[in-house]
Amino acid sequence: MGLEHLWAGWRAAFVTQAHAPAGGCVLCAIGRGDDGADDLVVARTSRAYCVLNLYPYTSGHMLVVPVRHVAHPRELEADETAQLWQLVQEAIAALSATYRPEGVNLGMNLGRAAGAGIADHLHAHVVPRWAGDANFMATAAQTRVLPEALPDTRDRLRRAWSTPIGP
Ligand SMILES: [Zn+2]
Repeated sequence: MGLEHLWAGWRAAFVTQAHAPAGGCVLCAIGRGDDGADDLVVARTSRAYCVLNLYPYTSGHMLVVPVRHVAHPRELEADETAQLWQLVQEAIAALSATYRPEGVNLGMNLGRAAGAGIADHLHAHVVPRWAGDANFMATAAQTRVLPEALPDTRDRLRRAWSTPIGP
C-alpha cells in the first residue's frame, strides 16, 4: 500500500462528489445516474443501488441506498425495502467472496446526531471487518491509508456480484 493509492482513491471520491448538483444531494445524483456521478456504483436495481462509500473506513466499505430521497426507514415503500435488503445481502456475499472478512458491520445512522454524514437521504453502511483491525470510532480521522484505490475495489466487487448467496 502506498500514498499513490491513497491519493488515487481520494481523487476518485472528489471527482464523484463534484458531480453532485450545487447544493443538491449526492445520493440522489448517483441514484439518477447523472453523468459521472455513478462511477463507483457496484450494483443497481430499479429502486435501490449499492455504491462505494466516498469516504471509506476500509476497502470494500459500501453504502446501500434507496433511489428515492427519504430520511427514515418508515418512509420506504415495501418494494424499496425489499430491494434495499436484497442489495445488502448481495453486498455481504460479494464482500465475502472478494475480501474474506472475518465479520461485517451493517448499520444505519438515522439523523445527524447519530453521525449520519448525509442525514436527509437514508443509507446503510456495509463495512468488512477483521479481528484486530482498529476501532471504528478511533479511526474516524481522515488520515487512513486505503490498501487499494476505489475504482479497483469497485471492479473487484462488480466481478464478484454474481456470486450466489450461499446458505
Ligand atoms: Zn437524496
